[in-house]
Amino acid sequence: MGADDLLSLAKRRGFFWPSYEIYGGTAGFYDYGPLGSRLKSNVENIWRRYYVQEEGFFEINCPAITPEVVFEASGHLAEFSDLMVQCKKCGQFFRADHVLEEAGVEVSAATAEVVGRLLLKEAGVKCPNCSNHQFGPPQPFNLMFGTMTGPGSAGRKSYMRPETAQGMFLNFQALLRHNRERLPFGAVQLGRGYRNEISPRQALIRLREFNMAEAEVFVHPEDKSWPRFEKVKDTVLRLLAQDGVEYKLTAGEAVEKGMMANQALAYFIVRTQDMFYEFGIDPEKFKFRQHRKDEMAHYASDCWDGEALTSLGWIEIVGIADRGCFDLSAHIERSGQDLDFFEAYDKPREEQIAEVKPIHKVLGPMFREKAKAVAQALESFDATELNTEDNNEKNLTITLGNTEISVPPEAYTVVRELRKVSGRRLVPHVIEPSYGIDRIIFTILEHALETGDDGYKTLKLTAPVAPIQVAIFPLIGKNVLVSKAREVEELLRVANMAVAYDDGGSIGRRYARMDEVGTPYCVTVDFEGVEGRTEQGSKNGESSLAESVTIRDRDSKKQTRVPINELATTLKNYLKTPPDTSGWEKATAAEKE
Ligand code: AMP
Repeated sequence: MGADDLLSLAKRRGFFWPSYEIYGGTAGFYDYGPLGSRLKSNVENIWRRYYVQEEGFFEINCPAITPEVVFEASGHLAEFSDLMVQCKKCGQFFRADHVLEEAGVEVSAATAEVVGRLLLKEAGVKCPNCSNHQFGPPQPFNLMFGTMTGPGSAGRKSYMRPETAQGMFLNFQALLRHNRERLPFGAVQLGRGYRNEISPRQALIRLREFNMAEAEVFVHPEDKSWPRFEKVKDTVLRLLAQDGVEYKLTAGEAVEKGMMANQALAYFIVRTQDMFYEFGIDPEKFKFRQHRKDEMAHYASDCWDGEALTSLGWIEIVGIADRGCFDLSAHIERSGQDLDFFEAYDKPREEQIAEVKPIHKVLGPMFREKAKAVAQALESFDATELNTEDNNEKNLTITLGNTEISVPPEAYTVVRELRKVSGRRLVPHVIEPSYGIDRIIFTILEHALETGDDGYKTLKLTAPVAPIQVAIFPLIGKNVLVSKAREVEELLRVANMAVAYDDGGSIGRRYARMDEVGTPYCVTVDFEGVEGRTEQGSKNGESSLAESVTIRDRDSKKQTRVPINELATTLKNYLKTPPDTSGWEKATAAEKE
């Protein structure tokens, strides 16, 4: 099955479609329709259940428009780019690695130089648009959308955030205080990310404005154990490791063998798998792939992508990384704020302290108006870097703004002494699970869609994500049945189910429509249940007659007659039944034996 099947169903039934279509559309933007929006809310709310409800992480909301300084500090301004090439004949721009990928050329280190060489005519790589053989030189293209905040010359350069993560880093102090100055804790944000992708395509997979759900888990740099790891350690994971080999291991084994960096990282990998199974992602078409060394960011100590097999190949739908202290350190350096925490020792320790003391009467004439700033910089100079022999014997280099200043030995002294110390300041490390909601939605829909030989389509969505959980039909549009069906609809609405009423067309057509949008149960109100009534369990030996309806199960197509006064409870039980995801794990266990 190609993606086209899903795309036409998605548009026809109100899941999603390209934005701005009446004006010809703009690549990389999609609208969610009525059913797609409900599916998206369901996915996001289940995500919240895992992270906010079950882990107790703090949800925050930050603006998308972000001043430039944030991305200077985070490194996005310098680094957040893809290599772009232009075809010399048709003038189209492409992502260089995509052109190579399509031509079956493998790139390990995607530097401009390597990519440029690979794209040369001799390698036979063709323009995907016009089949020409000649490209211009590859150039980095920064993916952030720039904008201005404020009018005219008072405007400040800003960018649309390419991820939600920075909000959690910038607010670290407030979040730590909220957690009463203790680690570990997590903060999360759901919201839009903006990336000016060079060649957006593949529907929801590569958008220019997309939905993210990110968690930043702040942990002690020397203790990345996770209190609840014990609960998940026996879960089997399908892991494509850095060595290129696929393993089926429990999370506990993966950590023990050193394949996964630590418990905290492994814990969120397991919980991600649990959540994806609840979404109905097919266990046979899902795995975690570890980043190769040349692919991993220099600061990361381990990184796994959750990848799903779709008609567009394996796609990354979540990335889970141990980012070390990179992000907080970058903002500490740029902002000068204390984005760290104080770890109190059990009891005070004696420690050798070394401090640089400025000699003001020398600094004054030497640095004049800068003397005060130089003195402050000297006071915060890390004197542990100085050897005892170096004391007052070498020039110290400090940085003021963008200038480096050399301070001669006569302008400072180093004081060393034993002091009682009650604790130390540390920069936490960050474990970051980062989910692309649109890619998850695309995967859920593709994995759920079954097309029969006769072309009959059933979307086998799980009850927790289905936009409509129960559809209510009067068998025919007769008054008595319509009013009873409306009553039943109200009853189920009040019982908190996602319901829809439909009295249009034959009952078969209505079942088919609901099968196509993934509704797990249809309830039909017929004459037999309203006028004929059915016998219900007896009370005090007397039998009573109750009104009844039939429940039709989407997957088995079985129909069961149920008294209306038991309908809500019965359906609630059906909807609670977890999806059967044991097949893959059972197969794995059998294979292991
Ligand atoms: P990244 O920060 O690049 O690891 O992205 C985090 C997650 O966002 C990925 O795992 C994807 O699921 C999703 N994602 C990244 N770029 C896009 C895009 N252009 N369109 C839709 N989803 C995306």
